[in-house]
Amino acid sequence: MRRGLWAALGWRMRMSATQFGYFDDWRTAILRCDRCGWTGTFEEGSVQYYRELMDSSCPVCDAWSAPMLAIVSYPTIEECEANREKMSESEKRNLDERKRIIATWESTWLKSEEELPDLAGLSLVFTWDFLVEGSDRFIVIKFGEREIWRELACYEGKIRFKEVVNILKKKYGSRLMDVVPTPESETFLYGDDWGASDFVDSVRASIRGCGRE
Ligand SMILES: [Zn+2]
Repeated sequence: MRRGLWAALGWRMRMSATQFGYFDDWRTAILRCDRCGWTGTFEEGSVQYYRELMDSSCPVCDAWSAPMLAIVSYPTIEECEANREKMSESEKRNLDERKRIIATWESTWLKSEEELPDLAGLSLVFTWDFLVEGSDRFIVIKFGEREIWRELACYEGKIRFKEVVNILKKKYGSRLMDVVPTPESETFLYGDDWGASDFVDSVRASIRGCGRE
């Protein structure tokens, strides 16, 4: 609750900040604090790093209320590819490594209902389980004790949950009743995303809606 409040406050503060794409000139642009008049670059400000962006606030104003001056969004892979000539050698190496990891990852993912086994029964309930083997983390979909699919897990994988449920729907149709995340899977499935549990619930509700048709 408290964290949600701060997130909302933070969002309001960000509304007036300058928004940069990663390949814009944010390293040299001069930012100005309207409250105290400080001027400086993004990196001279007080920089906070998040998963999808970093922001820079006035380093002079009181930390709690320092105006946020600018936000830089991290690039998607597509943006990196389009701006490859602007990247340093180490950024290029990071990009290639990121692409390699994603390709390996996606190669393990369920793509089609044809990869799933035929199962008997009119009402099928699956569990969405989580397993660590060595340095790899897997999503394991089980029907009772039987493992019907295993793939590399992605952190905060709620969108992947929906994709897999849609493939299960295609395979099993109205016989699909539910896909139940185990407690072990929840940390990875929900992560730090406060809306993820509601999202997963709504995907599960859509299965039940589909079953009644
Ligand atoms: Zn200031």
